[in-house]
Amino acid sequence: MHTHNPSNEFDQLRGIIKNLIQDNDEFVRTHEPEYFDPFEQQQHPRATVVTCSDARVHTQALDKTPDGDLFMIRNIGNQIATAEGSVEYGVRHLHTPLLIIVGHVACGAIKAAASNYSSESDAIKHELNSIQLPIKTDELTTDDWLRGVIANVNNQVNYALIKFADEVKEQILTVVGAVYDFQNVLGQGQGRLVIVNINGNIDTMHIAARLLELR
Ligand SMILES: [Zn+2]
Repeated sequence: MHTHNPSNEFDQLRGIIKNLIQDNDEFVRTHEPEYFDPFEQQQHPRATVVTCSDARVHTQALDKTPDGDLFMIRNIGNQIATAEGSVEYGVRHLHTPLLIIVGHVACGAIKAAASNYSSESDAIKHELNSIQLPIKTDELTTDDWLRGVIANVNNQVNYALIKFADEVKEQILTVVGAVYDFQNVLGQGQGRLVIVNINGNIDTMHIAARLLELR
């Protein structure tokens, strides 16, 4: 059982703050002022990324130098509806040619959305209500959980394709859906970003051919 012990919590907090400050010190030490030159005055990101707040999902898995490069939107369940203005800003104001939705295996938001979450707070319920899943159950199997993650990614891509239909038609925007697999449940390597949807096309052969073209 978790017991509240103010002195333990103070020690824990001190440890976290200390780590943050130390890591930032190291970042400052290892990054010359020139590093910041390209994006010190403005940002020209190449991608708008909608991903989950989950602590196991971070940009270093997909971009070695995300600074100035990725316009990041994070929320539970990697949704557009709960952060629509931010997504719109990336696409319509910063004109990123790519909008990528990154879901992930073992997403707690998907599990929660599939179950009875009526006892959650209004704020959490609000952010779970917009996740539409094929299966609603409190006893989600691993397979159904993964299917739910993929279904949500596809729903988000479809939402974007309707919202940004003009940009996609003009070919100034491509919408991609992906699943970040830190458990290797998809068998393509632990930590793999698996593309599951390109502009609404979920056919694996089509995706493979398109990615080959783009490489
Ligand atoms: Zn998640």
